[in-house]
Amino acid sequence: MRVLIVEDEKKMAGFIERGLKEEGYVVDIAYDGEKGWEYAAVNEYDVLILDWMLPKMSGIDLCKKIRKEGKQVPVLILTAKDAVEDKIQGLDVGADDYLTKPFSFDELLARLRALLRRPHSLRDKTVLQCGNLVMDLIKRKVTIGADEVSFSQKEFSLLEYLLRHEGEAVSRTAIAEHVWDLHFDPMSNTIDVYINFLRKKIAEKQADFKIETARGTGYRLAKEP
Ligand code: CA
Repeated sequence: MRVLIVEDEKKMAGFIERGLKEEGYVVDIAYDGEKGWEYAAVNEYDVLILDWMLPKMSGIDLCKKIRKEGKQVPVLILTAKDAVEDKIQGLDVGADDYLTKPFSFDELLARLRALLRRPHSLRDKTVLQCGNLVMDLIKRKVTIGADEVSFSQKEFSLLEYLLRHEGEAVSRTAIAEHVWDLHFDPMSNTIDVYINFLRKKIAEKQADFKIETARGTGYRLAKEP
């Protein structure tokens, strides 16, 4: 298991590092948020431990950036702040857990084990991604690159269906069955109209994917070559 610690207090970083190494973890340390981002962007970690108050970029902003880039790695935030609002803010930006300083090393280990036990399949189902399109199914939020894009309920469901079948041509009948209800008439042009709504919204952003027309079949969501 490879862990990234982003913590500017060298004593604290060293304490966590030593403890984790004893437990068999592979550990990298960054002493500021920007360095943390450099490491997190390039390397594959199993879990990130981010201090909240950091030079150059806070742990919260770093966590936001990591989620914006679609990275699903578990994040544990460390901080001396223990107000309820702070905890909520930390979890809001996509952190998975939160630990208030001072903490015992055993508690940190227990939290890490819990985070690492979470099945990836479960995590994957809550966020769908294609290129720079990220859909958070729990928050009902869609981002294209750095921009949040709002979709109607139907548009959202249609986009979700296409995303779940990324790269595959899906027929109008299949779309009708999964996105509309039983009373929907698959011969109407409603699906085409909604596809156009989606295409328009996507075209306004710097998207690196598109909804292609699959001749004779239906539609396909695919990354730009
Ligand atoms: Ca700090």
